[in-house]
This record gives sequence, structure tokens and C-alpha cells, in this order.
Amino acid sequence: MKKTEQMYEGKAKKVFATDSEDYCIVSYKDDATAFNGVKRGTIAGKGVINNKMTNYLMKKLAAEAGVPTHFVEELSDRETLVKKVKIVPLEVIVRNIAAGSFSKRFGVKEGTPLKCPTLEYCLKDDALGDPMINDYQILACGFATEEELNTIADYAFRVNDYLKDFFAGVNVDLVDFKLEFGKTRDGAIVLADEISPDTCRFWDMTTHEKLDKDRFRRDLGNVEEAYDEMMKRVLGE
Ligand code: UDP
Repeated sequence: MKKTEQMYEGKAKKVFATDSEDYCIVSYKDDATAFNGVKRGTIAGKGVINNKMTNYLMKKLAAEAGVPTHFVEELSDRETLVKKVKIVPLEVIVRNIAAGSFSKRFGVKEGTPLKCPTLEYCLKDDALGDPMINDYQILACGFATEEELNTIADYAFRVNDYLKDFFAGVNVDLVDFKLEFGKTRDGAIVLADEISPDTCRFWDMTTHEKLDKDRFRRDLGNVEEAYDEMMKRVLGE
């Protein structure tokens, strides 16, 4: 597959067209943003780590958790061939432990284990600040159909069940994470975007040290070291 013109540049990735209608190439950058683009910076080596970690986890999710994904082939350290999909404009957030906006919104202290995993949606719209949206509102606006939303919720919890155990195996608490789904040309819902320290909260199970993008968001220092440590625990490199 040959890379052709750039289709899109997001905050952390670029997407290129290919000479096939059914595939595109994502290229991971080291750029980091937070708070809807207000805070900007660079995390050296992040693009390589997020590319490799995402691909490794997506392969496992497809093979071992029955969650179809857009992943096709890792092309290089930063580039991956993926199925071309239409992104469902929702951020799908699963939580196991209270943190971030959940703690703020509901007054639940950060670090409180939740009695069961939660699922929430935000509308992907930077101009609106990615507002929270519920199932009824999603259906009413036509952002997804009921069938698509049921599939998305089922996949999101399957991803959580699988990844919670996987990360426990490397002594990491999977606190919460954000997923995005896409629709292929034939209408199938597949997991898209990335699964990385940019999109998940990872806490060391023993020390509770943060090993994710909160180190950048909250100016905690040792940002690169945290990404490197997660890479080592997940991929052994
Ligand atoms: N998240 C993300 N992109 C976003 C918003 C959230 O990847 O635009 C991830 C974030 O890394 C965390 C989870 O989703 O793992 C829940 O984030 P939260 O709603 O607590 O928002 P935050 O506190 O990060 O603003």
C-alpha cells in the first residue's frame, strides 16, 4: 500500500490516504496537548511508544477478547496501516477508579475504587469542549444508532475486562481510559484510535505512582520516564 496525500492532522497523529480506498496510514507524533489544546508541549519518543503499545494491545483484543479493531499492519516505529473508517463522533470513557473529571463532577475523591465499572460518552467536538452526552441524546441527534451504541458499549466493557487483567499482570491499575470507534465501509463497528498512556490512566499498583499523561497535564515531571516505564512493562522494551 502506498502512502498518498495527508487527509488530516490531529493533536497527536496525522492520517494519510493510501492508493486503496479501504485503508489509511496513521503517523504518531510526539506533540502533546491537554485541556482542549490550551496546554501544549512535546513528549520525546511518545509517538513511537503510543504506536507500538496501541498495536500490541489491539492485536491482543482482537485475538483474545473478540473485539474487532481497525489495525492492519505496523509499518514502522511511528506508522501503522489501518482500515479506513468513519469515526463515530463519541469519546467512550470507561472507569474503574474515580479520577479526573469524574472526581470533580461527582465529588468522589480521586483513587476511590468504583463499585462497578462505569461507561460515559462525550461528544467529539472541540469547539463545544467535548460535552458529556447520554444514550438518549446520542440517538436523538443521530450520532449513532441504537444497534451501534449497544455494540460500542459491549465492546467497551470487553476491552475493560481484558485490559484490567492484562495491566494487573504488569502491576498497573487501569484507572480509566477513552476509546473511539469507527464504522467500516460495510457498516461494521470496530475499535479505532489508540490505547496508550495518552488515553488511559495507569497507576502503579504498589506505589500508586502515575504512569500516564497526567504527569504532563499536572506538571508532575518525569513524563518521558513514565511513558518509557509503561512501554517496558507492556512490551518488555
Ligand atoms: N481522555 C482522553 N481524551 C480526552 C479526554 C479524556 O484520552 O479528550 C482519557 C483520559 O486520559 C482519562 C479518561 O479519558 O484516561 C478520563 O478522562 P477524564 O474524563 O477524567 O478527563 P480529564 O480529567 O483527563 O480531563
